[in-house]
Amino acid sequence: LPAADSPLLANLNPEQRAAVTLPAGNALILAGAGSGKTRVLTTRIAWLLQTGQVSAGGILAVTFTNKAAKEMMTRLTAMLPVNVRGMWIGTFHGLCNRLLRAHWKLANLPSTFQILDTQDQLSAIKRLMKQFNVDDERFPAKQTQWFIAGAKEDGLRPKDVEIRTEDDRKKVELYQLYEEQCQREGVVDFGELMLRSYELLRDNDPVREHYQRRFRHILIDEFQDTNRLQYAWIKMLSGITTAGGQFVPGQNNSVIAVGDDDQSIYAFRGARVGNMADFVREFDVQHQIKLEQNYRSYSNILDSANELISHNKKRLGKNLRTDQGPGEPVRVYESPTDLAEAQWMVEEMRQLVRDGFDRKEMAVLYRSNAQSRVIETALFNASVPYRVYGGLRFFERAEIKHALAYLRLLENKDDDTSFLRVVNFPPRGIGARTLEQLQDAARTAGRSLHDAVHAVGGKAGSNLTAFVAKIDVLREQTQGASLREIIELVLDHSGLVEHYRADREGADRIENLEELVNAAESFVTQEGFGRDAVALPIDELRQSPASQGLDPNRPVIDEPLAPDAETGETLSPLAAFLTHAALESGDNQAQAGQDAVQLMTVHAAKGLEFDCVFITGMEEGLFPHENSMSDFESLEEERRLMYVAITRARKRLYLSHSQTRMLHGQTRYNVKSRFFEELPEGALKWLTPKNQAFTPSAFGYGGGYASTRSGGGSYSGGGGYGGSKDSFASPPVPPQKAAPSHGLRSGMQVFHNKFGEGTVLSLEGTGDDARAQVKFARHGVKWLALSVAKLTPV
Ligand code: ATP
Ligand code: MG
Repeated sequence: LPAADSPLLANLNPEQRAAVTLPAGNALILAGAGSGKTRVLTTRIAWLLQTGQVSAGGILAVTFTNKAAKEMMTRLTAMLPVNVRGMWIGTFHGLCNRLLRAHWKLANLPSTFQILDTQDQLSAIKRLMKQFNVDDERFPAKQTQWFIAGAKEDGLRPKDVEIRTEDDRKKVELYQLYEEQCQREGVVDFGELMLRSYELLRDNDPVREHYQRRFRHILIDEFQDTNRLQYAWIKMLSGITTAGGQFVPGQNNSVIAVGDDDQSIYAFRGARVGNMADFVREFDVQHQIKLEQNYRSYSNILDSANELISHNKKRLGKNLRTDQGPGEPVRVYESPTDLAEAQWMVEEMRQLVRDGFDRKEMAVLYRSNAQSRVIETALFNASVPYRVYGGLRFFERAEIKHALAYLRLLENKDDDTSFLRVVNFPPRGIGARTLEQLQDAARTAGRSLHDAVHAVGGKAGSNLTAFVAKIDVLREQTQGASLREIIELVLDHSGLVEHYRADREGADRIENLEELVNAAESFVTQEGFGRDAVALPIDELRQSPASQGLDPNRPVIDEPLAPDAETGETLSPLAAFLTHAALESGDNQAQAGQDAVQLMTVHAAKGLEFDCVFITGMEEGLFPHENSMSDFESLEEERRLMYVAITRARKRLYLSHSQTRMLHGQTRYNVKSRFFEELPEGALKWLTPKNQAFTPSAFGYGGGYASTRSGGGSYSGGGGYGGSKDSFASPPVPPQKAAPSHGLRSGMQVFHNKFGEGTVLSLEGTGDDARAQVKFARHGVKWLALSVAKLTPV
């Protein structure tokens, strides 16, 4: 089949075709949203395979999310018959995990090492800080977590971190202690996955050379959001050694990076747009391709995106056009309250369904996770099926984490984080004092908590021993059992199901626990059980590569659950599943396949597209976010985020904002986002009268929004606005007109996080003083200050 006639190339424009068929070498594709970057990347893989330039095992492709990786594999299988299992397509974390699983020994990890998610990491840090009596006012655990993550993203071990202040010294010390703790417990956090696998490659010549020889083609999507360490990792695998060194075919691997500087939205997590310029320089990039045709959106949507982003000063500069005609105008809606905003959205969705749109083609995007609650309530009440991405992931729910902790202890008794999570859950009369005693004993003996229980005497001691015995017996019982049986055994014998059965609100949790069994089942059957569990015969690496035929075209070594060539050890199905639980979002578990509306943050929407998109909460302080409004750089990042949000829409785009909003227990009086002023008026249609525009200079806005705390419910010139008296000549939202900020009425059914459901009996006071008398089914009558209490109508 002559390459140029390949049907693979038929659906591409000339620039895309040029990118797909580039000769081996390094290239950068820099192009705006919806221009087909991801399509080009996927098609290039297919084309390389089809033209025999590389075998499936010679490809390494990095995507930003697991969802994107799956999507890519599905597309590939549709294009040509190929075994996607042999290909290394995944996120940085997923691929690094794969490397470490294959070379755990060289990476100085136990074969059953487990992954700490961000929650676990935080609790591990808290535990450590308590143990070493670190003042958590001066060194909040969250900050320590950021510090450690940041250091790892920059590739720095404790010894490499520059110490300038006493505080630095303390933080580095904590970093060091944290590392020792993780190592002792056999766990790695997300940053560690990346750093450890980088070091593995750097420090082991045969391993590095093997993979360098193997991955002839490296392709990276969303390159603008790579951090320093990820860049170095790619560089190492590419075999490019010297800055500006020339690409030598056969010696270096071809790296194609695809990105859009306007969609760089992870600077706060260490992403470096500068990686693009470095890439061009250090990788001797010969081909830079621009794609300027947008295939996703109608021009009203695209014009809005283009106009908005033109307000950013720091840009590499690109154009984007569409042939698709104007389409419908972008609809803008203003509502009095966040509840009304959600209600309107539900109505609009009904209309969209009547107009023939699928629910799964509707996305609701928001800036902060906290916004989803009100929207979820409205959808739930209207019986509209929906799915939340990001948010609390399936595997992050408390009851699931409890069950996973038991499972992890079966795999690794030294996992102290898991031990502490469930040692007294369900309650077994083991108190905080006992645990402190146990932790002291374990530290003194240099052992894990599991191994130190005998050091604690008395009643408490026997409770601990009983717990450990339970775990050990379970481990015995589950030998040889299937994954499903193991989980069922654990659910029964841990007492979790029984515990939740006794809880009046436990039904959902039991359902989720049952869902965990299903998740395991589908992991084994459909998900390509053990895809992450790749073993590589290390013996082969030690011998001469040539004699072993380790050329890129040899059959791929990865077999699901292939035993380690040295020890014959394989990853257990349970270990593989636990890895999956830590790395996968688990979104697919709940309501998979249902035609449901999609809810997610703007960050999570990157790379995706939908027919209809609602961008909600378009208010100063929310979007742009209050933390980002003071400096130029962060404001530009907010604008890029808005650009990402707008460009997700194919056909219909809605922007909404609300005059008041309950957030974090406060009513905020919100001014509409400055971004409205940066959109082309001709592309918009105001569903509600367009009123007072946002004019930063006229109002002298500093904080952007006023809350009941600062303004006492009226515009008195306090806190949020901080302008001169004159600035308030025409307040943007006359408070008299706004609905009662809390949106509550007597007789209304409400939900409170702690007290559950109740009925509002009466209301009193305004603004900061507003209070409600609520009768709760289980907790009786209470008075609640509305500036603090979170009450959601049900
Ligand atoms: P983003 O920056 O948002 O990640 P992208 O540049 O990766 O976007 P894709 O997602 O690859 O863009 O493509 C956007 C849409 O346009 C997809 O639905 C894709 O199938 C379609 N598309 C891309 N190229 C073409 C083409 N030549 N002809 C028709 N449709 C195309
Ligand atoms: Mg893309």
